Amino acid sequence: MGLGLPALSDPTATAFVAGLLAAVACGLGALPAFLLDFRSSRAVGRAHAFAAGLMVAAAVLALVGPGVHLAVRGDQPVRGLLGLAVGAGLGAVLIPLLRSCLPRGGDMTLTARLGGRNALLVFVVMTLHSVPEGIAVGAGYGAGGHGQSLDGLGHLLAVVIAVHNVPEGLVVALPMRAGGASLRTCFVAAFLTSLPQAVAAAPACLAVSVFEPVVLPSLGFAAGAMLYLVAAELVPEARAHCGRADVVGWFAGGTVIAAPLVVL
Ligand SMILES: [Zn+2]
Repeated sequence: MGLGLPALSDPTATAFVAGLLAAVACGLGALPAFLLDFRSSRAVGRAHAFAAGLMVAAAVLALVGPGVHLAVRGDQPVRGLLGLAVGAGLGAVLIPLLRSCLPRGGDMTLTARLGGRNALLVFVVMTLHSVPEGIAVGAGYGAGGHGQSLDGLGHLLAVVIAVHNVPEGLVVALPMRAGGASLRTCFVAAFLTSLPQAVAAAPACLAVSVFEPVVLPSLGFAAGAMLYLVAAELVPEARAHCGRADVVGWFAGGTVIAAPLVVL
């Protein structure tokens, strides 16, 4: 028997392996960033605008949309929507807090290697946003074990998450690459941002009911952090490097390209 085969009979191990494969997909998403030439300031601005567009599509279509859908179909829709909204508010508060924790001037070695403060913020936020996605995958595998009709749900969710990880890998890599980070750093960073999907999937699969109450607030939290990051950091950074029309065009391009991938 190969290493992967025993995992197939155990939903928890399968959920973990599926999460790992999804993280590799995110790493691969970083690669297109290396087709671009970032020597001009304008290219740096366009990359930030494009990453912002990708991020808005991912936050709205992969987090807010499914969150609202889950809330209104649940037993307590008002409570569900409230949980989503409170989570979003807390997520937005996270960004200025994180920003104030990042080193200023002086010892910027790690920040510089990752392509600067904005790139580091994107990395942290995208890593956090993978946690509820991992819970969703794990819960899918866990639910599949309890009912015939739900068998295959875990696999389906894992494929959906893996595909939507590809543009998200690019979100992580673009500001890093624009800031001068290496191919290896971008790939590893993109992979790491999705690693929580594997780590969160296993316990969520084992204890679906324990994780259920935190799903909506954590979806909201991730979406709030991503949207705030776009508005407060990525778009202003893009504007600092290129004109309004350029920013709008590249932002719209990012949204349009990511939309079919993240909703799948
Ligand atoms: Zn995502």
